[in-house]
Amino acid sequence: MSIVEHVPNQLGYGDTPVIPQTGFRVHDRDRGQPPVVTPGARAGDPPSDAIILFDGQSLDGWESVRDGGAAQWQVVDGAMEVVARTGDIRSTAHFGDCQLHVEFRSPPVVKGHGQGRGNSGVFLMGIYEIQVLDCFDNPTYADGTTGGLYGQYPPTANACREPGEWSTYDIIWKAPRMDGDRLVDPAAATVILNGVVVQNHQVLLGQTNHKALPAYHAQPSTGPLKLQDHGDLVRFRNIWYRPL
Ligand code: MG
Repeated sequence: MSIVEHVPNQLGYGDTPVIPQTGFRVHDRDRGQPPVVTPGARAGDPPSDAIILFDGQSLDGWESVRDGGAAQWQVVDGAMEVVARTGDIRSTAHFGDCQLHVEFRSPPVVKGHGQGRGNSGVFLMGIYEIQVLDCFDNPTYADGTTGGLYGQYPPTANACREPGEWSTYDIIWKAPRMDGDRLVDPAAATVILNGVVVQNHQVLLGQTNHKALPAYHAQPSTGPLKLQDHGDLVRFRNIWYRPL
């Protein structure tokens, strides 16, 4: 076959079988092109369509959960750091289904043990916690381990780095679908910690609870990203998401 004869079909076909549930033919020439997204230069860098929640410069875009005023954490060396007892902070941006990138660092000076060491948390929609804890050589209850869906599912691996080293979370989040108080479709999370899959599209049992069962309750279809003040000087940086 010559190149000339081959060219007409490069953009697809109009005589192939229809793929069930899609309305499109196999290799359909009329199927829309995926949008172009320019990837970040290095793994973890925000791609061109990412929404930056924290760029290392300021806490604009974050507020205190306690009173809705300015976030009281501090910005140090391109990161935000918990200021103990100022309370949780949350993004002013609200979103649902997403790809989320967060980097975090437990304090280099090891203090406390179990849940009292480098504790914080990444709360999707403000209410579903993916645990942040210094779990390097620091046993605690399994469903409170870093990478765990707190109080529900432990991570499938402990992929924590040593205290003081930066870690990455890449999270693919599917928001729950609610009809008032009635659950229509549960939330699900895929969590990659330092390049290791630790939750594989795990379906959540409900909103995060402490010493109590998780449960779904009426909630908005979108919510903020919340970061926890658990009294430990955990840092975060390079936080961005892509709505899905
Ligand atoms: Mg926590």
